[in-house]
Amino acid sequence: MSVHDRKNLKSALESAILYLQKQGVEEARQDAWLLLEHVCGISHSTYFVHSEDEMPKEQQEQYEALVRKRGEHIPLQQLTGEAWFYGIPFFVNEHVLIPRQDTEILVEEALRGLPKDARILDLCTGSGCILISLLVTREDCTGIGADLSEKALQVAEKNGAQAGGRASFVKSNLFENIEGTFDVIASNPPYIRTDVIETLMPEVRDHEPRMALDGSADGLVFYRKITEQAGSYLKEGGKLCFEIGYDQGDEVRELMETHGFADVQVLKDLAGLDRVVTGIWHKK
Ligand code: GLN
Repeated sequence: MSVHDRKNLKSALESAILYLQKQGVEEARQDAWLLLEHVCGISHSTYFVHSEDEMPKEQQEQYEALVRKRGEHIPLQQLTGEAWFYGIPFFVNEHVLIPRQDTEILVEEALRGLPKDARILDLCTGSGCILISLLVTREDCTGIGADLSEKALQVAEKNGAQAGGRASFVKSNLFENIEGTFDVIASNPPYIRTDVIETLMPEVRDHEPRMALDGSADGLVFYRKITEQAGSYLKEGGKLCFEIGYDQGDEVRELMETHGFADVQVLKDLAGLDRVVTGIWHKK
């Protein structure tokens, strides 16, 4: 690929697809298209009208640079700076986990039975996608997103503007700087076993923040810490909602039952895998 070789939209797209396929990028065709859309601001219909037009030199350069980066397995969303979650666009960069569609189930479960004017806590908030989706859906509610990473919090703050001032973000090691009680505590904590991280696809292993992935040797360290303390931060009848890995359902259920949560449920994602655990807190 080279800009000396001037292209129209069609030939730029086709060489990008071939290049990404050669680099072993899984969704080569889709990603080549999405990057073209990002650079040229085109839609499907404008593409088909203009596919034979010569591409402006600057756009061609920009497109080829992004395609090369995608070929280095930098995630698409880090290149476009955007990820959609729960029907909402979120700004993302290399300091936050890219919101995953599976996590939308956690949002659904947190919304189920959510009382009016609820106060929500999102631990390990990252991009803020969970808290912000809840607050965009329920305009009567307010919430706090906590994270240890200042760089993640900057991303969350930026995204938080979409919740009209009802989201605030604090630097906190789990509950450390959190005050008061909540109707819901939601968390998608890091839960990958340390030894499994090396087996993940390069997009995740090499480009997403390690601290957003690593759940310690057994993957459960955050569930243990959060479950131990959550009761002190929940109102009577409040709900704790976790996203979990597909093989952690039994262990997290047991942890929650051991720490006194009632009505503990393990819920499945669209692929039929365990994905979310919820439990209700009753004051002792
Ligand atoms: N809460 C964020 C998300 O679900 C970040 C999670 C994390 O960093 N482990 O996308």
